[in-house]
Amino acid sequence: MRVLVTGGAGFLGSHLCDRLLEDGHEVICLDNLFTGRKRNIVHLLGNPYFEFVRHDVIDPFKFEVDWIFNLACPASPPHYQYNPIKTIKTSVVGSINCLGLAKRVGARVFQASTSEVYGDPEQHPQPESYWGNVNTTGLRSCYDEGKRCAETLFFDYHRQNGVDIRVVRIFNTYGPRMLANDGRVVSNFIVQALKGEDITVYGDGQQTRSFCYFSDLIEGFMRLMSQDEITGPVNIGNPGEFTMLELAENVLKLVDTKSKIVHRDLPSDDPKQRQPDISLAKAKLGWEPKVPLAEGLKPTIDYFRKDLGL
Ligand code: NAD
Ligand code: UDP
Repeated sequence: MRVLVTGGAGFLGSHLCDRLLEDGHEVICLDNLFTGRKRNIVHLLGNPYFEFVRHDVIDPFKFEVDWIFNLACPASPPHYQYNPIKTIKTSVVGSINCLGLAKRVGARVFQASTSEVYGDPEQHPQPESYWGNVNTTGLRSCYDEGKRCAETLFFDYHRQNGVDIRVVRIFNTYGPRMLANDGRVVSNFIVQALKGEDITVYGDGQQTRSFCYFSDLIEGFMRLMSQDEITGPVNIGNPGEFTMLELAENVLKLVDTKSKIVHRDLPSDDPKQRQPDISLAKAKLGWEPKVPLAEGLKPTIDYFRKDLGL
């Protein structure tokens, strides 16, 4: 099949391009390189079945493709808050462009949605049936509400135009190819530990997240896209839940460092807890994660050590 991956030069997108090529597909990678980089896909540039197109997803595009994966959107709070209006346009107009293309060429189209649609959840763990608790006017709203609107667009194109959709809600995912300056917690803690700098825990560090290794996530993407029974939304994430202090301690165990934990202000609207209910993915996709946090952190640390030239 010929597959379009928007955001294909980013952390997850580049791993998805690898997997699609390994499975024998042709890949067109569309990316404006805002948070992605050529380095993530440089090993693919000589592959005749791979094509890189530098383009913004908010400007219309046309390709004859069978599948579209829409991953284009900055994912870390400092990056998506850098230009919040652009972030919301990327989710909303980018989705309309992907859906319009899917409608024209009859492609199956996949949306990388997020656990952020649950906001600061009042139900724990979060099943897909939970509608969420999201601030519409805060610093995180450009991302959360952009992704929520994108989901609505996917389901309206499906109902109104019969577009063949798949929607996944991704919970915090980490691994090699994250940017050292990405700003998300796993990369921050690892980079700080490797450089011997203070580990910056925001607030009291009792807030929780559930961390999924990238390879498990990509397997979930492929299972959802390759079956005909469900459209989603489906949660894909690792239910292993950790406080940020526990995460910091895990990193400190694995890196030989003088770094110490320090506390910094908690950003506004920071969700207090987050854990996926993955019953639907287990039942319908036969999917569950295989890589526990302590195992996934090791190759991620090795990656950053090399990336930073340490
Ligand atoms: P990332 O920042 O590494 O990747 C995003 C990619 O999209 C980058 O390559 C960036 O250059 C590109 N991009 C951004 N705006 C664009 C635009 N206007 N036009 C074209 N390309 C654009 O982040 P990631 O972690 O790989 O996230 C990929 C997708 O998965 C995003 O949609 C994100 O919202 C979603 N997601 C990720 C996580 C996670 O924990 N990694 C969690 C939930 C959702
Ligand atoms: N966090 C932290 N120190 C950092 C970066 C993040 O304690 O250097 C916290 C942040 O406040 C949040 C959690 O880690 O509670 C996860 O943050 P991240 O930005 O990775 O993802 P998100 O909040 O979008 O889930």
